[in-house]
Amino acid sequence: MKAFITGSTSGIGYAIAQTLAENGHEVWMHGLESCDQGQALANQLALKSKAQVHYLAGDLSQSESTQKLCQEMLSQSGGVDILVNNAGMQSTAATENMSADKWAQVLAVNLTSAFLTMSACLPKMQQQQYGRIINIASVHGLVASIHKAPYVASKFGLIGLTRVVALENATQGITANCICPGWVETALIEPQIQARAEKFGGNRTEGIRDLLREKQPTLTMSQPDDIAQTVLFLCSKSAHNITGIALPVDGGWTAQ
Ligand code: NAD
Repeated sequence: MKAFITGSTSGIGYAIAQTLAENGHEVWMHGLESCDQGQALANQLALKSKAQVHYLAGDLSQSESTQKLCQEMLSQSGGVDILVNNAGMQSTAATENMSADKWAQVLAVNLTSAFLTMSACLPKMQQQQYGRIINIASVHGLVASIHKAPYVASKFGLIGLTRVVALENATQGITANCICPGWVETALIEPQIQARAEKFGGNRTEGIRDLLREKQPTLTMSQPDDIAQTVLFLCSKSAHNITGIALPVDGGWTAQ
C-alpha cells in the first residue's frame, strides 16, 4: 500500500512513517526541510525498513503551496491508499492577545491542509473503493484548555470534518478517523515543558510531572510510537468497520 504522512520528519509523524514503512508500505514523507535534508531522512528510513520511502517538501500554511504539494504527491504516487494528516502547530496566548495572523496560520496548518489533502486523495480512493484516512487531532478536539484558542478550534474542526468525510464515504471502502492524543513527548510540547520546568528551578522532570498531574491521570506521557501503533491498527483489515471516530490516547484525560 502507498501512504502519505504530513509532518513526518519529526515526532509522531516520523514514528508513523517508520511504523508504516516497517510494515511494508511505500511511504511519502513530508516536512518543511529542504528536499536534500528530507530525502536524506527518507533514505535512512528506507535502509532501516527495506521499504520505498520518498520525501516531499511543502509549507501547509498557504492553500496554494498545500495544493501544489498534493499535485506533486499524486503525480509521483498515482494516488495513495493511506493518508495521515499529522502536521500541526501550537501557539499559546490568551484569546485577546492572539493575533489574527497566528489564528489564520494555525487554522491553515491544522485544519485547512487536511481538507485539501483529503479532497486531493479521495477521488482515487473512491475509484479503487479503498482508503484509510487518519487525522491526528488531539484531546483538544474533545475538550478545551485555556490559552489555546486557534489550536482547540482547529482540532474540534478537524474532528467534525473527519466525520463528514467518514459519512460521505461510508459505502466506498474508505474509513476516516481521528486519533486524539493527550501529552506525547515531542518537540511540539517542549516550550510548555520548559515553562513548567521554570517553576521548579529548571527541573525538566518536575516540569513534566506538573503538566501530567494537571490533566493526564495515568501520570505517564505517551510516546510517538504509541500513536503510530494506533494508526497501524486503524489501517488493518480488522478496522474496516471503524469510521468517524475520535479515539483518545490520553491516559484518561477526557474521562474526567
Ligand atoms: P512535531 O512538532 O514534532 O511535529 C509537527 C510536524 O508538523 C513537524 O514535522 C512540522 O514540520 C510540521 N509542520 C508544522 N508546521 C508546518 C507547516 N507550516 N507546513 C508543513 N508542515 C508543518 O510535534 P508532534 O507532537 O509530533 O505533532 C504531530 C501532531 O500531533 C500535531 O498535529 C499535533 O497537534 C498532534 N498532537 C500532539 C500532541 C503532543 O503532546 N505532542 C498531543 C496531541 C496532538
